[in-house]
Amino acid sequence: MRERAGDSCRHVVVIGTGQGGFQVAASLRDNGFAGSIHLIGDEDGLPYQRPPLSKAYLAGTTDRTTLALRPASFFAQAAIDISAGRRVARIDRTGHTVALADGAILPYDHLVLATGARNRLLPVQGAELDGVAYLRTAAEGDALRQKLSGLKRVVIVGAGFIGLELAAFAAARGLDVTVLEAASRPMARALSDTMSSFFRRAHEAAGVRFVFNAAVTCIHGINGRASAVETADGTRHAADLVLIGIGIVPNVELAVDAGLATDNGIVVDDHLVTGDPAISAIGDCAAFPQPFADGARGRIESVQNAVDHGRCVAARLTGAAQPYRAVPWFWSDQGPLKLQIAGLPAPHDHHVVRGDPASGAFSVFCFRDGRLAGVESVNKPGDHMVGRRVLGTSLTPAQAADLTLDLKALASTKAVAA
Ligand code: FAD
Repeated sequence: MRERAGDSCRHVVVIGTGQGGFQVAASLRDNGFAGSIHLIGDEDGLPYQRPPLSKAYLAGTTDRTTLALRPASFFAQAAIDISAGRRVARIDRTGHTVALADGAILPYDHLVLATGARNRLLPVQGAELDGVAYLRTAAEGDALRQKLSGLKRVVIVGAGFIGLELAAFAAARGLDVTVLEAASRPMARALSDTMSSFFRRAHEAAGVRFVFNAAVTCIHGINGRASAVETADGTRHAADLVLIGIGIVPNVELAVDAGLATDNGIVVDDHLVTGDPAISAIGDCAAFPQPFADGARGRIESVQNAVDHGRCVAARLTGAAQPYRAVPWFWSDQGPLKLQIAGLPAPHDHHVVRGDPASGAFSVFCFRDGRLAGVESVNKPGDHMVGRRVLGTSLTPAQAADLTLDLKALASTKAVAA
């Protein structure tokens, strides 16, 4: 039996005040939920958006107030209790309570785990030195902002989305930027080789130096400060600042301790319910059967996913249960380039290019088993929006590549029926 509000569910407790935690609380109220909602998060302050941390916040063009998802008055008016700066230490599934690290006990009828993820730490000697930074939280954003003054050389470990956003930012400030990447191309896990190569060339043109197939073996320091990053071939890459962006690890420990199943994330069904019908999991921490990956269980690390998960759970708790089937989409701003992804392009067996990469604005349509699996666009928001609508339809590679075809019009015809 799935928990619904209105009958037995009067107290919803949400662990995590990030994008997903905020959304489930806000959507519960939007849907008319009249019971109590308690958001508990171990970070200080109001729920905030993370994407600007590697963009406008770093540049100093936005501050903590504008980072907030809503002002304090919103939570007061919506009667959403927030406990910020407090960590949940344990879940008692039998008693339907959570225990906070400070000793408080809170009862729940339904519990939402929106615990997100934390930085994957670089397991090498020297990673603890001053001048080695990660970027996940606003506190880390503040620390990084302070470290930026007076720098000359930045070494970034990891050519994923965040590493490359940081690389673009640092290069635009005139810093000497080296990116060390274990794979053979940037954003290899997520993007086609065509789009990946485009971004490599664009970053190189902006002055970024890449070293691929690089295994970092240690970080050297002078007087406790990082001074160089060494790779397996013995090369030392001099650095005043080392930024690590090698991915994240889902926060599953509470779920594990409570006896819930985990598998690189908290395992949930297609309604985002864990093995316990009184507990859901959403956002970066949730491993769910993905409709756009043939039902394969996995996690998606994006704002869209956290928001739509939050909405899905809120709908279920207010009597409108639907399986989760939102189209995944994502963006990454890297200097002047806006990368947008609709669907899950990786893995794919075939891709076609729509438009001319030399123009700096084009898309890559990725096909898996003859079906459109994902659309990668750079500075082409129109293609991205069409991509979201034609995913999983019978659009052919020839149609996708044909610039004379109006894809927007085609998307609304039977020619690309699902
Ligand atoms: P989180 O936002 O991580 O929130 C989880 C919260 O739970 C955290 O505050 C955590 O501290 C707290 N918590 C965990 N355990 C406990 C506990 N036991 N007790 C209390 N609290 C706990 N996505 C995009 O789509 N586009 C982008 O351009 C983009 N840029 C990004 C840039 C950066 C620098 C980062 C870090 C992320 C970016 N993302 C982007 C990803 C996006 O922000 C995340 O996917 C999204 O925030 C996930 O939301 P969430 O609620 O699942 O988790």
